[in-house]
Amino acid sequence: MVEEQLKEVIRDIPDFPEPGIVFKDITPLLQHPELVQQAIEEFAQQLEGISFDVIAGIESRGFLFGFLLAQHLKKPFIPIRKQGKLPYTTVSESYKLEYGQATIEMHEDAFPAGTKVLIHDDLLATGGTVVAASKLIEKVGGHVAAYSFVISLDFLQSAGRLTRFSEHIISLVH
Ligand code: IMP
Repeated sequence: MVEEQLKEVIRDIPDFPEPGIVFKDITPLLQHPELVQQAIEEFAQQLEGISFDVIAGIESRGFLFGFLLAQHLKKPFIPIRKQGKLPYTTVSESYKLEYGQATIEMHEDAFPAGTKVLIHDDLLATGGTVVAASKLIEKVGGHVAAYSFVISLDFLQSAGRLTRFSEHIISLVH
């Protein structure tokens, strides 16, 4: 099963970026093109029957699989980036981190009102990042159709924060 193979290559880095945090590092997965391809096919399979128009990926690791998946499914890809990185007029959304806050942005003309958006990121932890991304999408008149993650940290029980936007939440690794 692809989940088992992914678990074998994704590594735990203790005390990164700070003491007490165990960071899931997906970079070794990028050394395995066939497994990456299998992961993309698994995403596509799990998304079967869910209707969406575009994929929005969150900087920066959300760009890796988000863009590949968009290409695979022949859907447009939209980058959601950290503040100050996008060159054209943006909409922005701030959210709380454990210490301080973060802001993410998207081009205001990224898609027309009424567009159904799949939000993709590498990992779901507290859900703060994708909740902010969801608000960004709704600000410009879009609808969140689904979420996809390479990894979900299920013990944090944050999927409940997402269901008010969409009940479709898929992850390759739990
Ligand atoms: P959340 O907002 O708490 O759900 O955190 C998710 C965001 O933080 C995603 O954009 C991830 O890329 C990043 N993140 C948090 N923990 C990890 C980790 O262990 N590995 C990789 N990315 C992480």
